[in-house]
Amino acid sequence: MPLLESAVDLLDLHRGLDDEAVAIRDTTRRFVDRELRPHLADWYEAGALPVREIARTLGGLGLLGMHLEGYGCAGATATAYGLACLELEAGDSGLRSLVSVQGSLAMYAIHRYGGEEQKQRWLPAMATGEAIGCFGLTEPDFGSNPAGMRTHARRDGGDWVLAGTKMWITNGSVADVAVVWARTDDGIRGFLVPVGTPGFTAPEITRKLSLRASVTSELILDDVRLPADAMLPDAAGLSAPLSCLNEARFGIVFGAVGAARDCLDTAIAYAREREIFDRKLAAFQATQLKLADMGVELGKAMLLALHLATLKTQGLLQPHQISAGKLNNVREAIRIARESRTVLGANGISLEYPVLRHANNLESVLTYEGTSEVHQLVIGQALTGTAAFR
Ligand code: FAD
Repeated sequence: MPLLESAVDLLDLHRGLDDEAVAIRDTTRRFVDRELRPHLADWYEAGALPVREIARTLGGLGLLGMHLEGYGCAGATATAYGLACLELEAGDSGLRSLVSVQGSLAMYAIHRYGGEEQKQRWLPAMATGEAIGCFGLTEPDFGSNPAGMRTHARRDGGDWVLAGTKMWITNGSVADVAVVWARTDDGIRGFLVPVGTPGFTAPEITRKLSLRASVTSELILDDVRLPADAMLPDAAGLSAPLSCLNEARFGIVFGAVGAARDCLDTAIAYAREREIFDRKLAAFQATQLKLADMGVELGKAMLLALHLATLKTQGLLQPHQISAGKLNNVREAIRIARESRTVLGANGISLEYPVLRHANNLESVLTYEGTSEVHQLVIGQALTGTAAFR
């Protein structure tokens, strides 16, 4: 039997893919491997990512807001979008985070809930990567329970005045526009805050041990005055930001498979070369049991991702199903990353290999866009009909 090119091919799941999905997958993979992979360890070590430069290249490849229609967006299928996320995260979760936040959080919010002028102003520039967006929902005291947010917007004549603090915001310090969610007399609403607006600052959060190749920031809104048309007209209530999060979580379902694939492929290649007790590490049953279990979980995760893409294409995908995909695939990816690390022994802890970098990144992925516990509760509610969040 010929050797598989990648462990993710164990179940031959690529056979059902259409030409568009395959082309986007292959282009993204080539781009990541040639242009980004050589720099990832350095970016991770430095805790810095050249977001603007990468965004312009990703925009040139049509990967920003790629699942949206019009306004310069590619209008790609759910599967093609998922596979692009997979290939980006096979490089680093920070790359996929950049694309998720730009396309699925910031651009999606404007595309779905914005007025025509807001769309014209921001979406074409965001699709090319000329403009960067961020999405401010989480606050220092309100992550899993965004309904408790303190950031508020009050009317002052025709203007809005925003005050509050957002925390852990991807791309915050490099963004041209922040989508900020705030409490109003009329419930939770979304606002577009262009950088440079007096009172708005976005200090970067440093000393992270995870997602180091990604910019994460605080957003400080100190009585930020915005014109009346800064509000997203069609976003009323918490369901609006939650719908954006569902879009991004869908990308994570695929992305986690990419991180896991990169870890397992690294472990297999390493085990086939490494000599221990005069034999290749790959020739020991104990090693093969590990690799086999990881290969099966990777295949199941990919199958789940493709199934959710089919449901999404048919307009049938439900939030609790996305929760099941995010919970399973990130949880299994982190297990695969840690187990792959053991196969590499001491080399596994080095940035010369990607496995511990992926494992550390996946700690953030397990937490953001809904923690694993919150997704368990979403699934629990779907199964029992009873919400157990509070
Ligand atoms: P908490 O909500 O305080 O949770 C702490 C623990 O309590 C967790 O284990 C949680 O699962 C558990 N828990 C919570 N509720 C329950 C419950 N009902 N029952 C049982 N257990 C419970 N946010 C944005 O808005 N925009 C971004 O761009 C963004 N980017 C991020 C990037 C990074 C690198 C990280 C780490 C986070 C980012 N976040 C972003 C924030 C992220 O979404 C939150 O961290 C997440 O929602 C969890 O909130 P929290 O950290 O406040 O944890």
